[in-house]
Amino acid sequence: MVREETVFGPIFSRRLGSSLGINLLPVNGKICNFDCIYCECGWNKDGRDDTRLPRAAEVCEALEAKLKRLVDDGTPVDSITFSGDGESTLNPDFPQIIDDTLALRDRYYPSAKVSVLSNATQAHRPDVFAALRKVDNPIMKLDAPTNELVAKINQPAAGYDVGRVVEALMQFNGDFILQTMFLKSKDFDSSSPETLSGWMDIVRLLKPREVMAYTIDRPTPEEGLQKFTVEEMNTFLKPLIQEGFNVQVKG
Ligand code: SF4
Repeated sequence: MVREETVFGPIFSRRLGSSLGINLLPVNGKICNFDCIYCECGWNKDGRDDTRLPRAAEVCEALEAKLKRLVDDGTPVDSITFSGDGESTLNPDFPQIIDDTLALRDRYYPSAKVSVLSNATQAHRPDVFAALRKVDNPIMKLDAPTNELVAKINQPAAGYDVGRVVEALMQFNGDFILQTMFLKSKDFDSSSPETLSGWMDIVRLLKPREVMAYTIDRPTPEEGLQKFTVEEMNTFLKPLIQEGFNVQVKG
């Protein structure tokens, strides 16, 4: 299972180029209000040994030290991405950390893009939403169109409601990236006609500037999950592609 330092990388990815990661969760644990059956950080119950969240000042210091070193070494940085051992927006200093990160990006690597991978559960909070609006790429997860299916795939903490998340995402006026994991198990199939139809209706409502569709890539905490091929995903996503949505499929 993946455990990251507060500032990690850079790692090279085809999509993001040379990408520096920021983990706002515990260095030796996991904190998330989802417990996705495919999470590469493992189950929440296995990540409770360390619950200390890094504070804004620490993140700023670690990031600045790393950026300085990378500039001195002549290492390129194309992107700075908030991902890590859980949900970044649960860190109470998230808004301050975004401001600090944008200022450091402007100083050291002004052309690097700042991205946040989030499960969108905190997007209704004004301070979190304002911070998400400031970054180049707010990448918001929505894996299923109903509370029943979200319960199976994401196992959210009590109080989750798809309708509330969709309402929060409406505030972006389409200026965000929607990320959806497609998979199947013996209990469900993300590509079933009724699930796809409900999910596509949400996409049409939200009009995200990009839809990032992906599938399982690494070992998952739940056993028996099945992935889709790129061809299968392109086929079942065809209606949205034909309607002109920018759909990026990753196998
Ligand atoms: S939202 Fe992300 S970090 Fe949280 S359980 Fe799901 S995959 Fe893991």
